[in-house]
Amino acid sequence: MTRTSLRADRAKKRGRLRNTLLLVACILVMGGVAAGVIVLLTMSSGGLKVPKLVGMKYDDAKKQVESRGLFIQIDPMQDSSGEVGKLKIKLQDPKPGASAEANDTVTVQLTGLHESSKYSGESNDKLDVAPSSSAAPAPAQESQPGAAVQPAQASRVVCIDPGHSGRSGSEIDPATGLNVGDNGGASGELSNMWDLAQKTKAALEGAGYTVRLTKDSADAYSSLRARADVGNQCAAVVRLHYDDTGYTGVMRPPAGGARCPQSDPGRATVVDAGVTSASDSLARALAGPLGLQVRDDTGGTSLGNGTPAGHPTCLVGSALSRVPVVCIENKMSLVRDNPGGQDQVASQIVAGLNAYFQSH
Ligand SMILES: [Zn+2]
Repeated sequence: MTRTSLRADRAKKRGRLRNTLLLVACILVMGGVAAGVIVLLTMSSGGLKVPKLVGMKYDDAKKQVESRGLFIQIDPMQDSSGEVGKLKIKLQDPKPGASAEANDTVTVQLTGLHESSKYSGESNDKLDVAPSSSAAPAPAQESQPGAAVQPAQASRVVCIDPGHSGRSGSEIDPATGLNVGDNGGASGELSNMWDLAQKTKAALEGAGYTVRLTKDSADAYSSLRARADVGNQCAAVVRLHYDDTGYTGVMRPPAGGARCPQSDPGRATVVDAGVTSASDSLARALAGPLGLQVRDDTGGTSLGNGTPAGHPTCLVGSALSRVPVVCIENKMSLVRDNPGGQDQVASQIVAGLNAYFQSH
């Protein structure tokens, strides 16, 4: 080969090499673009996976969920209008790894909140604001230092409200605009609180009380409104719950506690002042025998319910109550699948109500 042809040959080879590299680069770029398109398509067509949120703080979980194009909501059954950002997530639905579509909502339950839904609703049609008036003929005797025994309770009508319903619901109470839907509660809570209610009812009746329950069977559905309507016919309402995060206490509405529809913050339902003070007495009377702390209602934002500015929050059921009302978050180990423990709690509730009615 001549020098010239050698040079030409080398130039040709170099050209071929350059073309090959360009081709490879092109393929790589196109492949990358195609992969990106596939990922985007997958994401928008339901290939999203629900992240694991249990154990995270609500604020962090919210960021994580929203960064994936999903929404998060606190379980409507939880009353959670206060500071919830730092509370940890104990349950989520759908479960981690489940497929989701963009804009789907992940429902979570937070620790340290009690459920709102099982709380009775209110009944504004009852005018009897006085704690004990509604259904109970006045007992013949008030508390006399020597007469400390049970017979005094005869004719007292007490509402026992077994927490939760066999299904979740969402419904607006026309009187207040609040969502009074109920839900299924923590694992095992529905059936165990029904059993506890039966035992408590029997124990109270044995002590001379008349007892009304807020539903007819464990699985029945009863809205917060329906529950309040029953409770407001009674001298006092005791709600039975447990929280599987270990949260316990006898909760009652704080003074000035109120709820409102989130969409209409001016439409506040404020707990009656007489109800808050009598509820506090009731909570204190029960907390002793039960060995639990007296706590404020925890309130909540769920299901479109909010807390009006300038008011502490409270349970929707408390806002609706016209009579003293408490929500017991029981010690789960005592009342879950533990008939002996349930018997014990039932008698403690009788003791607490006896103490309350002896001074009211
Ligand atoms: Zn509950």
